[in-house]
Amino acid sequence: AIARTRRSETLLAVCFLDLDGFKPVNDTLGHDAGDRLLIEVANRINVLMRGGDTVARLGGDEFAILLQNFSKIEECRWAVQRVMKAISEPVYIDGELIKISASVGVTVYPQDPCDAETLLRHADQAMYQAKQKGKDCIHWFDHQEDSLARSHHERISRIEAALNDGELLLYYQPKVDLRQGKVVGLEALIRWQHPDDGMIPPLSFLPVIEEHGLIVKIGQWVIDTALSQLESWNSVGLTTQVSVNVASRQLQSPNFVADLQHALSQHPTVDPSQLELEVLETAALEDIVSVSRIIENCRDLGLSFAIDDFGTGYSSLTYLKRLPASVLKIDRSFIQDMLIDPENLAIVQGIMGLTQAFQMKVIAEGVETSEHGRLLLQLGCDQAQGFGIAKPMAADQVVEWQANWHPDPLWQSVSGLYWDDGDYPIFVAEVEHHRWVSMLVYALENDQPIPHKHFADHSRCHFGEWYYGPANNRYDHIYSFHQIEPLHQRVHEIAKEMDRHIQDGKAGLARDLVPELIRQRDAVIDGLRTLAQSVAMVHPSITDTRRSEAGVDCRASN
Ligand code: C2E
Ligand code: CA
Ligand code: CA
Repeated sequence: AIARTRRSETLLAVCFLDLDGFKPVNDTLGHDAGDRLLIEVANRINVLMRGGDTVARLGGDEFAILLQNFSKIEECRWAVQRVMKAISEPVYIDGELIKISASVGVTVYPQDPCDAETLLRHADQAMYQAKQKGKDCIHWFDHQEDSLARSHHERISRIEAALNDGELLLYYQPKVDLRQGKVVGLEALIRWQHPDDGMIPPLSFLPVIEEHGLIVKIGQWVIDTALSQLESWNSVGLTTQVSVNVASRQLQSPNFVADLQHALSQHPTVDPSQLELEVLETAALEDIVSVSRIIENCRDLGLSFAIDDFGTGYSSLTYLKRLPASVLKIDRSFIQDMLIDPENLAIVQGIMGLTQAFQMKVIAEGVETSEHGRLLLQLGCDQAQGFGIAKPMAADQVVEWQANWHPDPLWQSVSGLYWDDGDYPIFVAEVEHHRWVSMLVYALENDQPIPHKHFADHSRCHFGEWYYGPANNRYDHIYSFHQIEPLHQRVHEIAKEMDRHIQDGKAGLARDLVPELIRQRDAVIDGLRTLAQSVAMVHPSITDTRRSEAGVDCRASN
């Protein structure tokens, strides 16, 4: 049939058919009745066959059907449906009305370009899937899906080989205290040094094994490797902490705590408090009861726990209260945009409030610039990690990096200060103003009209509403506050000028004003920073000597 189909360029359907509800007939009415039922089914199928088609009973209540000479898939479908309909018509046996049906798996040659044996196997495989859908169903074998599944399997084996052949390694990314200007630990991040494809990042291979037992094995290797690394750093006098990412499946594997205990006992020079485990917020919430218990048990061993990528899950207060983790790690996405997007800034501020309420430590990831660090310090978030501090590096580079690292001077300019909650709107105003200008510039560059409704009225943008409202009440007595007003007005003047040019059909002239607009924006932002400095208070961590070194004018804490 395969040869004929190829010659005639037609389609061939191989069907695997299994009766639904045959066994109960056998059991209740006896084998005799069962046999007669099978004969009836066979006859009904036979009647529908055309020349060249074949029906076979493979055994039990299983039939295989070969249908030939179709020009379209649709025709195959109708043919199979006719067979199924014929089978599901009621049958009378010994005066009993019996209703059965069939589950059918079908594969079509040449779409599924295999040999006879494989085609039959694929049809059988598809029949199992039809059964899973319920009674009286067809499942069409999908060649592409199948090869995907197979390549998935191959990829898992390849990753397992990478583990066994020593192709996996850990990189370390420093975590620092921005306020104190010192390194507080490192996060271990897995890499795959592939012999042909080079360095493969974790998100390109871990998701493949996320649901597979291999993730547990690799997770154990990560913990073991991190402990060995700590041991060797301890031996050269670099006492630090390493955080390790733990996959959800690994955390919930039955022997997780026992394995951890064993790993620790293999590295006696490492104090358990040198190891921190990071679990994704989403993973922690999957099964809050069991995860909380696991965290408790690990804490009993002396380890600390961090909730990773915080803000991307439900971030529910009730859950947070129940999770015995000691650290929250604010997701990179919020940090990256907090300088340009007031909503993200609000989220970061909100998370800071949560950590205070629950007395948790907090660390920000994704600090890419010194500005990020500055704003974090102003929000009271001292610990941070990100490319702006250091990229993840090989273990043998850590000692040298740490010896040469210096905190950014910009952080030192605010590290001795803190702000009352009521002063936070200054930081929000900065981001609001930044966004207002960015939206305007974007519109100009894309030949769109000015995106702000009240651009001509400097009291009606978000910044203006704050400035002439609550800020005016709070800062009226402060000189630097009043210096901001003309700077901000000028921004709106420029916007009006731009609009005039656009109205005159001279968008080019409007765009020429962009550099001046940006300069003016930065002047407003500088003004806001001066205001922030003048209302700041001395941070409690600052001693009297450092207080005079900081040399800032600050008002009393009350
Ligand atoms: P993560 O836990 O959120 O780790 C931080 C990721 O952000 C790392 O990516 C790091 O290189 C990157 N990163 C750090 N700072 C910055 C920054 O300033 N900007 C940007 N754009 N990215 C930054 P990496 O190494 O590719 O890891 C990705 C994820 O893979 C990790 O996200 C973690 O969820 C997972 N992962 C890594 N190692 C392991 C491991 O050993 N076990 C498990 N289960 N997961 C791991
Ligand atoms: Ca992490
Ligand atoms: Ca993250």
